[in-house]
Amino acid sequence: AAKEQGRNRFHYFTPSMQEFARYRMALIKDLRHAISHKEFELYYQPIIDMNSGDIYKVEALIRWNHASRGMVSPSEFISVAEETGLINDIGNWVFEKAAHQSAEWRKQFGTEIQISINKSPVQFRDDGDTFSDWLTLLQHLELSSNAICVEITEGLLLDASMGVTEKLLAYRDAGIQVSLDDFGTGYSSLAYLKKFDIDYLKIDQSFTRNLETDTDGVALCEAIIVMAHKLGIKVIAEGVETEFQRDFLAKAGCDYAQGYLFARPLQQAEFEQAYLNPRSSSSGLIEGTH
Ligand code: C2E
Ligand code: MG
Ligand code: MG
Ligand code: MG
Repeated sequence: AAKEQGRNRFHYFTPSMQEFARYRMALIKDLRHAISHKEFELYYQPIIDMNSGDIYKVEALIRWNHASRGMVSPSEFISVAEETGLINDIGNWVFEKAAHQSAEWRKQFGTEIQISINKSPVQFRDDGDTFSDWLTLLQHLELSSNAICVEITEGLLLDASMGVTEKLLAYRDAGIQVSLDDFGTGYSSLAYLKKFDIDYLKIDQSFTRNLETDTDGVALCEAIIVMAHKLGIKVIAEGVETEFQRDFLAKAGCDYAQGYLFARPLQQAEFEQAYLNPRSSSSGLIEGTH
């Protein structure tokens, strides 16, 4: 079979693949440049308390402010960053930026708002000493361990090779909260939720989207919420775009929601204007909300 593959390889290597390879090489080169020149930005999307309608915390979402291509979304570069290991530098930048931002907001607005950051499984694989560096920075900035929450995906829990159990226990010991992102799209089981002592479960937006059209979607959302609560886990619904979805989820007991109905991911200044300015009437930030 290997021989056959070798003989056929020629045919598979089409011009469009050559173009793709060239595009990919250029992207990698640009990404390295972006890392050394700090071309990234964090956008902030509020996560809303379903009971009060107030902001509960925020998720930081990375954007690449590319010199000629404008704002590039993570879906265009995270996977290449993961394949090349560049995600480690990017991820550390995200953590440092979020930590400094949290300290800055506390100083300016007098409240510590929890910032959730997304951490790639690759970062866990290549971790080394970075976790203790993270804790050192939090201490240096005099932030509580609650200042940052880490969002992980289900796939990570299935990979026994990276010492994930020990690493997540270290998070727990340090008091850093963990969210399970995109829940329902992977293969994690009840057993995993219990074993890893997750704080938040985020219902993937594909389920939220199906609420209006699909009775199975309704049953799944309700079941996820009941199950999570039985395990002492808070639930965040992602991708809430309509009042119907919000009302349904609130009625089903969902704790928090995030989505365009409330706000898109906002640039720092926009976010401050809408949610942190003490004079803004819509500011609903309560101290010690998390
Ligand atoms: P995620 O962590 O599941 O983030 C939620 C995504 O849903 C974000 O896309 C957000 O803009 C989008 N979203 C929020 N509300 C709505 C809504 O109501 N409707 C719809 N259709 N979409 C909504 P974004 O910012 O493009 O990020 C995509 C993914 O890229 C993230 O999914 C996350 O997996 C990854 N990502 C983003 N920032 C980082 C980062 O700093 N590090 C790593 N490793 N991954 C990141
Ligand atoms: Mg996320
Ligand atoms: Mg998600
Ligand atoms: Mg996602």
